[in-house]
Amino acid sequence: MSRIPELFASMVFNDAVMRDRLPREAYRALRQIIADGTPLTPDVANVVANAMKDWAVEKGATHFTHWFQPMTGVTAEKHDSFILPQPDGRILMDFSGKELIRGEPDASSFPSGGLRATFEARGYTAWDPSSYAFIKDGTLCIPTAFCAYSGQALDKKTPLLRSMQALDAAAVRVLRLLGDAATRHVTTTVGPEQEYFLIDKSVYEARADLQYCGRTLFGARPPKGQELDDHYFGSIKPRVTAFMKELDEELWKLGVLAKTEHNEVAPGQHELAPIFTTTNIAADHNQLTMELMKRIAAKHDLVCLLHEKPFAGVNGSGKHNNWSLSTDGGENLLEPGKTPSHNLRFLVFLAAILKAVDEHQDLLRICVATAGNDHRLGANEAPPAILSVFLGDELADVLDAIVNQTAYSDRKKEWMEVGAAVLPKIKKDTTDRNRTSPFAFTGNKFEFRMLGSAVSISGPNIVLNTIVADALREVAEVLEKGPCDEEAIGRLLKDWFTAHLRIVFNGNNYSQDWVEEAERRGLLNLKTTVEALPYFVRPENIALFERQSVFSETEIHSRYEILLENYSKTIHIEALTLAYIVKREIMASTLSYQKALADLATAKMALSVRSIPETGLLDKVAALSERMLSQLDALENSILATRQLESELDRACFYRESVFSKMQALRGTVDELETLIPGCYWKLPTYADMLYSVR
Ligand code: ADP
Ligand code: MG
Repeated sequence: MSRIPELFASMVFNDAVMRDRLPREAYRALRQIIADGTPLTPDVANVVANAMKDWAVEKGATHFTHWFQPMTGVTAEKHDSFILPQPDGRILMDFSGKELIRGEPDASSFPSGGLRATFEARGYTAWDPSSYAFIKDGTLCIPTAFCAYSGQALDKKTPLLRSMQALDAAAVRVLRLLGDAATRHVTTTVGPEQEYFLIDKSVYEARADLQYCGRTLFGARPPKGQELDDHYFGSIKPRVTAFMKELDEELWKLGVLAKTEHNEVAPGQHELAPIFTTTNIAADHNQLTMELMKRIAAKHDLVCLLHEKPFAGVNGSGKHNNWSLSTDGGENLLEPGKTPSHNLRFLVFLAAILKAVDEHQDLLRICVATAGNDHRLGANEAPPAILSVFLGDELADVLDAIVNQTAYSDRKKEWMEVGAAVLPKIKKDTTDRNRTSPFAFTGNKFEFRMLGSAVSISGPNIVLNTIVADALREVAEVLEKGPCDEEAIGRLLKDWFTAHLRIVFNGNNYSQDWVEEAERRGLLNLKTTVEALPYFVRPENIALFERQSVFSETEIHSRYEILLENYSKTIHIEALTLAYIVKREIMASTLSYQKALADLATAKMALSVRSIPETGLLDKVAALSERMLSQLDALENSILATRQLESELDRACFYRESVFSKMQALRGTVDELETLIPGCYWKLPTYADMLYSVR
């Protein structure tokens, strides 16, 4: 284990390596560029590129790639080798500053949501120096942003960086008003906890639905599910331990701060949590983590399922986005204060966050909306589709006291004098954390828990940063109007907490009571992706993103189209896969079982055996098969009908209302058949086979 410090980040061209290998001038220039976000000059780029190449070649790399995050959900790379032919027939290993700064992948094969039709087709990638280059599989990977030549973002990193800038500017502006003259930058930090399933390769390969869709499209409940909770935090099986060990080591080499690994609630389900870091790097690292999980699982004859709901009736997988704000002086702005001024600062940021979540419930819902996550949200395992904030009793009391200033003396609380205002002293919350809340305060950070396991964390953090930046802008505008003293701040706190108290909910988010209560409070309940997405292009949301310079109107429309299209495509592929399996596999199973029953019944009759239960069973299976065939027909007609629809939204709605519900109906019948047909006729792995496949 003493190897770990040497192992850690050994494949990363990080600050320490740069300091070591760059001439002092170039190193300093690069630091400045990273801190201020200014573009790289050609001479610095050349020096950095050369040092990077030498370092990478020493580590055995032969190729380089611009590594980027197009709007497909996975990362993209196009490898070029370092070789440069020489006149004498030999080669040099070469890598120029130009190649470091800019790449030109063929943009036409990535989704652009119509941006390509109206703008220059070509796109380029540009190095994001705030995220370090690294070596993966003998290739030097350079984290880059991906844009169209006309400037539109074609990826997830560009708007994430923009949102971080927006938040930085707004937070520093508020800190100045609160008397902080020292802080130069505020960054957001994220620690994403990642859930996943591991199953044996053999069961995966026998199920076309897992291969094409990442989830099972049918399958009857296993006799033993997660009722006993005996898997959660239970001892980890040796094969899984070996997988986790290798995963940790590979992640550490890439500088990913993988910290804890444990079993989750469902059989076959596990979780990895990293130590938090700057949002932009956390997003890169989470993409790498998901990629390595899949790759390393394969080496162990396992398959890693990152789908949000691989198995119906069993807990799905989510991703908890732990999010906070940190100053360049290393202070966490969401740490409740020990001194009156820090206490006040904390409450101001808290007020901004509450306002942001309350006013932008739609955007927070949209940024986690995918076909896969629709199976989870509201399914009594994940938060509901309704946004609310958990603060815990301690903090809820503080808010209460600020809202009803009269209640001060009734409470056995300590108070802090802040000039004219009196503030309750905030104790660290010791109550049980509410596991059902979609947005929970957990002592010094917020945990946004609605994310599905497969989603890139960029989208949710773009929204979080933008809405909080906009609320902080409003804080600044209010406080800039008059003298910014404790009285003015106290008034703002009282007004905002009063106005947004409805978003605070400390109870059980899984209960039906809450659904009704939330409706009374006027909170949104956007149950599905197709209900949520149209909110994205509302004028007030376009205005918000434009005001914060995160998305232009064109970019929003293009992303909206891509999200709708992805939704429809997902259901389309699932529907085709289900039909394919029914025709190729399930039909064969039902037919051979029916034949066996018929043969046996006939034979018994010929022998005058009086008891022939086979005929009753045959009747049952035959009736179900008939129903299955007519449901299959209905599904296939519904898939065809989607072609008639013109708009992307109409198509997505039709996929949800017609195609998806026909899939559900067909599944119901198939699952019923599965419970009737013996294993020797039912060739496909069952839920029990899959969930308990790793021994
Ligand atoms: P648990 O929720 O299991 O008690 P922790 O509170 O230690 O665990 O952290 C859960 C996740 O939150 C980890 O990924 C951790 O790195 C992350 N985290 C902790 N502090 C912060 C912070 N200030 N900003 C962002 N993420 C954080
Ligand atoms: Mg958590």
